Amino acid sequence: EPGVLRHIEHSAGVLIQMERPSAGRGVGGVPLAISCKTEKGAFFVADLGDVVKKHLRFLKALPRVRPFYAVKCNGSKGVVRTLAELGAGFDCASKTEIALVQSIGVPSDKIIYTNPCKQISQIKYAASHGVQLMAFDNEVELGKVARSHPHARMVLCIATDNPRSSARLSVKFGATLKSCRRLLETAKEMNVEIVGISFHVGSGCIDLQAFTRSIADARLVFEMGAELGYKMHLLDIGGGFPGTENSKVRFEEIAATINSALDLYFPEGCGVEILAKPGRYYVASAFTLAVNVIDKQEVPLDPPGSDGRLSRWNDASSCGAEPPILYYVNDGIYGSFSCIFFDHTCPSPILHKKPGPEPPLFSSSLWGPSCDGQDRIADGLQLPDLQVGDWLTFENMGAYTIAASSSFNGYQQPQINYAMSRGSCHNQKKRIERACVLLSPVAGKSQIPCALPLSSLPLESREQHPS
Ligand code: PLP
Repeated sequence: EPGVLRHIEHSAGVLIQMERPSAGRGVGGVPLAISCKTEKGAFFVADLGDVVKKHLRFLKALPRVRPFYAVKCNGSKGVVRTLAELGAGFDCASKTEIALVQSIGVPSDKIIYTNPCKQISQIKYAASHGVQLMAFDNEVELGKVARSHPHARMVLCIATDNPRSSARLSVKFGATLKSCRRLLETAKEMNVEIVGISFHVGSGCIDLQAFTRSIADARLVFEMGAELGYKMHLLDIGGGFPGTENSKVRFEEIAATINSALDLYFPEGCGVEILAKPGRYYVASAFTLAVNVIDKQEVPLDPPGSDGRLSRWNDASSCGAEPPILYYVNDGIYGSFSCIFFDHTCPSPILHKKPGPEPPLFSSSLWGPSCDGQDRIADGLQLPDLQVGDWLTFENMGAYTIAASSSFNGYQQPQINYAMSRGSCHNQKKRIERACVLLSPVAGKSQIPCALPLSSLPLESREQHPS
């Protein structure tokens, strides 16, 4: 019914508040009411306590670095509000992301507009909304900024050498060291202020030395700038930090490498402020996705080529497995599992309903709900016999999942149910509980009341945080 969208009865009978980023309107603007009792929609549980813990861990491991959360990674309001409340800054890639963080009261000096190639209207938007810190890596961008944002404080984004990152950014962005002098000279001629240097080693970086090399390169460009009369005072070391414990490199190892490189090339007291733009680090492990089996099909083991089904079975087993059971679930690669394509992940399911001891296992594959043969989530799985209505959960689903999902075939993004795990710092927990939307721990007892809007609470400075 109209008006009930934000209060939907959970199948267990618990009232929880949900965020439906893109959902809610049916044909002709009539709100869609979805009952979890009957619909069993896929949903996320987002543990904001995990986000809080990550923040404290960041401050402890990188004491000289101010984190600016990369909103592109996951712009759900609970995450953004939590980080705003903790005093983090924000890395925005577009006008919409700037509007999102400003709508919850983040001041413009805590925003960096990092897209090096911006549409002129969006540069003007940043100018009119007080966002001054912006990135660039080419001359055309400098010209646009000179004309549209005279008060901009620009950060020159340099390319990095990062073949061991899961998503390489320098194939698209970043000035080469050779072109930096010319860019700095052009900026002088155009009267554009350059305040610092940035880089991004690529998302999912497992090469510790990529950070050291990039920090050393940044030092060279600082010196180049000094020769041209610049007094740069900002180094942005980007993102690329792991977001889960199963990463090949631990966050603390990367942090130790960064700290050593900073001590060498930008020692304390050198007058350069350091910031970073972590994305996946903050959110990957906080989000768990639950999907529901909506259909099932057993593929007959006929000889190859005997009918169309078998060729599909062969296709599904292209990775070497033979999946005689196909399960269809209600989220897929055009939704939250877009990370399979865009982030090169291999999500693996956990059964919600525990099977009996030593159940027979069947070779199985998982497929999304769309009418597209590419919508395959996983294959080569060994699963017990599942039924329509059974739940599967996927952990570590916070980074580049919802953010890159679409409504292809008319499917909506799963609802996000916020929870606050125990163990996060008590004071922080209370503040976040007050600031965020109504949260209900799915497995916990307490119902956390919705209270103050974020704008009524002061944003804290990092000095006030125990690290
Ligand atoms: N900053 C910029 C400019 C980016 O393009 C990205 C990711 O693509 C990030 C920060 C966040 O990176 P990560 O999620 O690897 O920390």
